[in-house]
Amino acid sequence: MSTLAPGAVLGILGGGQLGRMLALAAFRLGLRVHVFAQAANEPAVQVTDRATLAPFDDQRALDAFAASVDVVTLEFENVPVASVRHLAERVPVRPGADLLAIAQDRLAEKRFARSIGLETAPFAAYDGGADGSNLAELSFPCRVKTRRLGYDGKGQIRVSNRAEVAAAFAALGGVPCIVESEVAFRRELSVLVARRPSGAVAVFPLAENRHADGILRESFAPAAASPDLVAQAETLALAVARGVELAGLLAIELFETLDGRLLINEFAPRPHNSGHWTLDGCSVDQFEQAVRAVCDWPLTPARALAPCRMINLLGDDVDAWPAWLAKPSARLHLYGKEEARSGRKMGHVTLVGDDA
Ligand code: AMP
Repeated sequence: MSTLAPGAVLGILGGGQLGRMLALAAFRLGLRVHVFAQAANEPAVQVTDRATLAPFDDQRALDAFAASVDVVTLEFENVPVASVRHLAERVPVRPGADLLAIAQDRLAEKRFARSIGLETAPFAAYDGGADGSNLAELSFPCRVKTRRLGYDGKGQIRVSNRAEVAAAFAALGGVPCIVESEVAFRRELSVLVARRPSGAVAVFPLAENRHADGILRESFAPAAASPDLVAQAETLALAVARGVELAGLLAIELFETLDGRLLINEFAPRPHNSGHWTLDGCSVDQFEQAVRAVCDWPLTPARALAPCRMINLLGDDVDAWPAWLAKPSARLHLYGKEEARSGRKMGHVTLVGDDA
């Protein structure tokens, strides 16, 4: 493939808010955008003039999509890996199918992290069939999590002893699970790393993330952190990016232990909610950096310009939009979603500077 130039067409798998913000960044750099989504009112479809509305496993739609774009990226993790492999035979897909396969499976993710020498919470696979003897090493309480399709705290149950695991497994639908010891963490952090296919990498400043009911509520960035912790996070991000031969952007969710170690929680091969602050407080935002990486264009160093506090607007929170608009230090981002269902990510606000 020749080098991509402005005017080329970026294909985005998924039509959500991450796709919308990716598309806007791509347009800013002179690209065209073709979104593969399911419905005309999805956030990313609203901002593009080219959209395919079809299921992700519709092979004819995938073929036509591949023929109309120069490179493909994704904003949504649960695209079938087989569809991505199908596309990748026709057009470059970045990040690629192998990384997606890891990121879709919590067990593969943790095994991969261990295989490159990184730490995770103690874990064991559980599919109900075995006698559970592989759980003997785990300290309780634990989280029983479905290996696939969990998000925002869904698909997981907390258990206080080994005897409760089987019931949790059944309540989760009897699908393959991972059982993970609960970590007494100091806080949750995340780091974003971009890598070009040709190998150059750029790591973003750490964000500190606060969740409620498994959903991200707020991120603070750059996270207050010692130089040693920052160096640890960078080393880890580079190890993951090289280990998976990343082409594009990858988010890594971390637990900081009470004694200052970083444990890998999960990966997302796409822009991440905890990186939204970069739109307003960083020398480059995560969406632009993702576009640069996917196009194999030069990356730019990601430096925080001001302290930021990103607040997710979930469900009815969005009704406060006039008040956020009236606040000088607040930058409001709305995703164009019609229905403010409870817990749904409708938009976010970034407070920049002293108010953060
Ligand atoms: P996850 O979907 O795995 O990211 O889990 C959602 C949230 O649940 C995390 O952001 C943590 O707040 C919490 N959580 C998940 N796994 C663990 C664990 N092993 N120990 C402590 N908290 C956890």
